[in-house]
Amino acid sequence: MTMAHLRNSLSYLSLKELTSPSKHTLILFPFRSQITSSTSRNSNPDQLCLHKMVHQVPGLDSKETSSIVEQIFDKYTSKNVKRNGKGIAIVWFRNDLRVLDNEALYKAWISSEMVLPVYCVDPRLFNATYNFGFPKTGASRAQFLMECLADLRKNLMNRGLNLLIQHGEPEEIIPSLAKSFGAHTVYAQKETCSEELNVERLVRKGLQQVVLSVQSKDSSRICPKLQLIWGTTLYHLDDIPFSPSTIPDVYTQFRKAVEAKCTVRGCIRVPTSLGPAPSVGDWGCVPSTEQLGLQSQKVSRGMKFMGGESAAVGRVHEYFWKKDLLRVYKETRNGMLGPDYSTKFSPWLASGSLSPRYIYEEVKRYERERHANDSTYWVLFELIWRDYFRFISVKYGNSIFHLGGPRKLEYKWSQDQKLFESWRDGCTGYPLIDANMKELSATGFMSNRGRQIVCSFLVRDMGIDWRMGAEWFETLLLDYDPCSNYGNWTYGAGVGNDPREDRYFSIPKQAQTYDPEGEYVAYWLPELQALPKEKRNFPGKSYIEQVVPLKHGKMNSQTSQNTPLTGRRNNFRVNRR
Ligand code: FAD
Repeated sequence: MTMAHLRNSLSYLSLKELTSPSKHTLILFPFRSQITSSTSRNSNPDQLCLHKMVHQVPGLDSKETSSIVEQIFDKYTSKNVKRNGKGIAIVWFRNDLRVLDNEALYKAWISSEMVLPVYCVDPRLFNATYNFGFPKTGASRAQFLMECLADLRKNLMNRGLNLLIQHGEPEEIIPSLAKSFGAHTVYAQKETCSEELNVERLVRKGLQQVVLSVQSKDSSRICPKLQLIWGTTLYHLDDIPFSPSTIPDVYTQFRKAVEAKCTVRGCIRVPTSLGPAPSVGDWGCVPSTEQLGLQSQKVSRGMKFMGGESAAVGRVHEYFWKKDLLRVYKETRNGMLGPDYSTKFSPWLASGSLSPRYIYEEVKRYERERHANDSTYWVLFELIWRDYFRFISVKYGNSIFHLGGPRKLEYKWSQDQKLFESWRDGCTGYPLIDANMKELSATGFMSNRGRQIVCSFLVRDMGIDWRMGAEWFETLLLDYDPCSNYGNWTYGAGVGNDPREDRYFSIPKQAQTYDPEGEYVAYWLPELQALPKEKRNFPGKSYIEQVVPLKHGKMNSQTSQNTPLTGRRNNFRVNRR
């Protein structure tokens, strides 16, 4: 069922059904269902909600969030974990900013008498992107990350620990702390991409310079160890039926094999109490975005995501249990407007404030307690995509960042700055592109549908170097993850690992299917609101001039529905190496 079908079928709901908070009203009017009284000044309800709303995600108040977090922590921590180690272990938090199901934290605790949790605010995170020099982390993601740190600290403190926040490079900070505290082991989550691998290598090297003791027998030196732990994916790297080099290039083959041959490991139950905390003079502050050299950005329209594990657990509760949206996920997931068409788990997954195995366990609980259908399965299907791109980064290494991608294909790309800027700033003359790019700039988020459309437009209609798009996403996305971002961009640009995919997204067709009444574009481009609904995506001269013609299909609401997408494969000149 497409969004258009869903909307059409729901438009027959009675007024009573629409005004009572049923599941359907939430699907149909994800923004409207929560309109506040401040909107009642305007007489047109359509325009009201389209203009004024900022949606906090999750939309729970702090009391509700605390109560959910307490319940979930009770369930996912254990009083029976035995501690059998000696001395101090360090947990070096990276993209695993959570307490629940955190194997590094668990292992550090059982192997020591005391744990020192550390986060390094690495200045390199705030440098520039590799090829085009965009800010490496935009203000919205920086803000989200700092919220994650504040929440992690709070959750650790509630369990008898704290979080040491240090500014600087991990390869300097971690060995120096290991030396001062005499830590025998540093536990951290394993990463897979070159920048992160380089830091791992340097930290290991630094630790090798720290001598904790010298054995009298053979004068060998005892240095702190670095223990890297796989923790980002739903399926564990050691459990998949492939070695990294034999991971299939076709997603479906990978998924089917994994589903047939692996089980998802259960969530790790960390101890209820994680103390005692070591004595630390100054635990450090969570920096503000200004202290990171960025100008803080207030979300004034669209979704405002709350960073941190508490918000993540709250969002799972809200989406699955409170709003009961998991039941219809497969039908709504291609939407673009509002917080409820899809899970919105990605920012927390990327920062590691949410564990995919926890999501899995909640899906299974939902299936037992409420309902199992295609939608409940489909969230797992999507999480396997995420796994897939992570494993592909292990298989293909740095080639996911290269222009020719894992397939080493040479296309003729342009780096036309003016065209790129029109895409970046949402001024292409195509409402669907412009609305999506404005949402990204304003909130740090864009739907999966939107991402595919703007990616296709940039690389296929504009012929622009896909890495410019990928790096712009790297700057802005709250959920930026190198594997998913570059994996999807190489895929969309036709240089990815899956050679069967042919991904031209026709804007007229996408607009007709996913934004038939122009609700989405009018939300982000208020100048289109005055137009009849069917014209909003096809405004002609009422909107800015189009910067490039489309390769396929015409921007005409009447003809676009049936325009065949012929000749797609000739879209580019391809020179295979
Ligand atoms: P849902 O539809 O609710 O899906 C549930 C989860 O499944 C997501 O949170 C995500 O973890 C995973 N997922 C879904 N689709 C994909 C996919 N195509 N690839 C990988 N994982 C997926 N996702 C990121 O997390 N980080 C990125 O940097 C990123 N960059 C992207 C760039 C492009 C060009 C495209 C086309 C997609 C990109 N995605 C990225 C994938 C996808 O768009 C987002 O994961 C999704 O929109 C997040 O919204 P959600 O959590 O509501 O997703």
